[in-house]
Amino acid sequence: MSDPLVSVVIPVYNEQESLPLLFDRLMPVMENLGRPYEVVFINDGSRDRSLALLLDCKDRFPGRVVVIDFNGNFGQHMAIMAGFAEARGEMILTMDADLQNPPEEIPRIVAAMEEGHDVVGTVRSGRQDPFFRKFASRIVNRVSNRITGLKLNDYGCMMRGYSRRIITFINQCKETTTFIPALAQKFAMNPVEIPIAHSEREQGESKYGLYRLIRLNFDLMTGFSLIPLQAVTMLGMIVSALSFFFSVFLLLRRLIVGPEVEGVFTLMALNFLFMGITLFSVGLVGEYIGRIYQEVRERPRFVIREVWGRDE
Ligand code: UDP
Ligand code: MG
Repeated sequence: MSDPLVSVVIPVYNEQESLPLLFDRLMPVMENLGRPYEVVFINDGSRDRSLALLLDCKDRFPGRVVVIDFNGNFGQHMAIMAGFAEARGEMILTMDADLQNPPEEIPRIVAAMEEGHDVVGTVRSGRQDPFFRKFASRIVNRVSNRITGLKLNDYGCMMRGYSRRIITFINQCKETTTFIPALAQKFAMNPVEIPIAHSEREQGESKYGLYRLIRLNFDLMTGFSLIPLQAVTMLGMIVSALSFFFSVFLLLRRLIVGPEVEGVFTLMALNFLFMGITLFSVGLVGEYIGRIYQEVRERPRFVIREVWGRDE
C-alpha cells in the first residue's frame, strides 16, 4: 500500500505580502515529507494580488496545488469548509497563510496523526500577538470550555490536523456559522493537543478587528451551546424574585414610615442596570434567532467562482 495522501487547507484573504514567503517555506516542507501531498488554497475574495500569486504557485507545482476562488469574502471558517469539501487526503491539516503558524511544524502534526490521533489540536507556546488579544483569548478559552462542555486549551490556533473520518463528519454539517476546531472536537475519538511555535504577523495585518472577533466568538458560543440562553432565563428569575421582595419591603415602609422621595438616583441606577440586562438578553435571543433565520433560508454558504488545479 502506498502512503496516505496529506492535504493542507489554507484560507487566504488579502495576503499578497505573506504568500511568496509562505510558498518558500511550505513547499520544501511538503516535498520533504516523503509522502504524496496536496495544498488546497481558498482565495476568500481577496482584493489584492493574492489570486495571481496562488495561480502562479499552482503552475510551479503541477498536480500539487488546488486553488478555490470564492466569489466574495465569506470568512475564514467558510473558506476552510470549502477546502475540506475539496481535499482528498487521508490526513487533512489546516493552517493560516500569514506564517504565524510555522510550516516547519507540519511533520510533527503528521507524526501525531500517525500515532492514531484523529484530531491533533495545537497550543501556541510563546504566542506572539498583541497583549489584548492574548488576554481576551484566555478569557474566551475558559468561558468556551465552560459553555460548550469541550476541553480545548487554545481555540484560536488554526494549525490543526484531522483524519478523513472527522472531515467526513464535518462535511455533513451544513451550518453557515461555525467554529471548526470546536466542531471537530465534537466528533473526535482520540484527540491530542501538542504545543507548537507561534510567530508575530510580519506581513500585512490581522483580518480580525474587534468587531469581527466578537462576532466570531458569538458563533462559537451560540453554535455549540444553549447555556447563554439558559443563564439569561435564570437571571430573569432571580431578578424577578428579588424585585418581588423589594416591592413588599417598599410597601411595608410606605405603611410604616410614610411617603419618601430620597433615593431616586439609586433607583435610576438600578433601573439602568436592569434595562441594560434586558437589552443584552433581547440581543442574545436575537443572536440565536438571527442564526436560525440564516440557516432556514438555506442560501449557499459560499459561492465558488472557479476551482483551479483539478484538471487531470
Ligand atoms: N482569512 C480568510 N478570510 C477572512 C479572514 C481571514 O480567509 O475573512 C484568513 C487569513 O488570510 C489568514 C487566516 O484566515 O490566512 C487567519 O487570519 P488572520 O491572520 O488575520 O487572523 P489572526 O491571526 O489575527 O487571528
Ligand atoms: Mg494571523
